[in-house]
Amino acid sequence: MGSLRDVVVLLGPGLEPWRCSRFEWDGDAISRIDRVGPVLALDGGALVVIPGLWNSHTHMGDSCLPDGATGLTLEQGFFRPDGFKYRQLAAIGREEHLPHVVAHLRYMARTGTVGHIDFREQGPAGSELLREASRASGVESVILGQFSGVPFGADLLMANEAPLPEGARGELEAILRVADGFSESTMNDLTDAAWREVRALTGRLGKLRAIHCLENEGYRDVSLARTGRGDLARAIDLLDPHLVVHMTVAGTEEIGLLAASGRTAVLNPRANANLGLPLPPVRALMESGANLLLGTDNGLLNSPNLLAELDFTYKLAKSQFADAVRPDPLAILRMATSNIGAVLGADHPGYLDAGLPATFVVLDFHQPHLRATRHVPASVVSRATPEDVLATYRLGRALYSSERFAEAGAP
Ligand SMILES: [Zn+2]
Repeated sequence: MGSLRDVVVLLGPGLEPWRCSRFEWDGDAISRIDRVGPVLALDGGALVVIPGLWNSHTHMGDSCLPDGATGLTLEQGFFRPDGFKYRQLAAIGREEHLPHVVAHLRYMARTGTVGHIDFREQGPAGSELLREASRASGVESVILGQFSGVPFGADLLMANEAPLPEGARGELEAILRVADGFSESTMNDLTDAAWREVRALTGRLGKLRAIHCLENEGYRDVSLARTGRGDLARAIDLLDPHLVVHMTVAGTEEIGLLAASGRTAVLNPRANANLGLPLPPVRALMESGANLLLGTDNGLLNSPNLLAELDFTYKLAKSQFADAVRPDPLAILRMATSNIGAVLGADHPGYLDAGLPATFVVLDFHQPHLRATRHVPASVVSRATPEDVLATYRLGRALYSSERFAEAGAP
């Protein structure tokens, strides 16, 4: 059981800030919240409690290579079979690899993240390694496995007729025994027939499906040249993914297609920018009504610190809306909190209320740059840093707790 007195809590799916005289949890659930009244500005600081953050697109496998992609294009750094990432992952042993991943999951907890959706390379063994890191760190890993190698050569991909080879079908089944779902780099990695098989098997087993789409023009162009359809249209028709990642170069028609499909998009603006790609159309996607999430993408490309991603995305969206008012900063924060429920279900609401999971972050708004904020949500999104995270709780358990929090008489 734990209790915080006189705090500001971002409450409910909308994340409205309320001054609360008590915020209590018992076991893994929030047991009591005593509301005093809505609050926007602070005069003498406060502890601010926000839902635990969800990072919906990571590749923590390559977190052992921070900034390893510097100077490389998307294709040179990240594409199979010979991209930098795949060569490096093949060269590192498990005993060396696992501690890197655990350390980065702990870093995520220190920056307010309670869970992530990971696009895990290296077949069943890769998924197993992340499962172990998740257990060690307490951070929840939703693992989407990927084939260890490309199942098709260029000729078979161009002909676009072959089903999954026997070996790949066996590997897919093995991945799904460990992982929560399946992902691939792009729609261009498999034939249409193979995608239909992936959809059928994952559907039968109740697993998640995700795919990177429209990260650059090449995704669409290669798909069009081979099949007569762009990669997003094929993804929605053949794979029916729960998550469409990137949408960086999506046009109006493609954004309309995604919104009409009811599927969720995961945006990764810092990773896109870091590769010299265009910035994603955050405004158009928000206006389309599509459910949106945020991710930090590869560990070797970008730090898995969602506070930085929130700041960048908020300012990018403001620039695209081109006025001083939109968007509401809470609409950006929902991309890392309450929007996750549409994908992970009712036991992952991504917001705080009595009876819901005690999965939250305590921010120190007594710090000089926060204590007199005129707008708590804007400061959470654009001004809070990892240094301001006092504690991160998942299901009532502290994944991270700072010395400062202990000194202040932490629960
Ligand atoms: Zn990815």
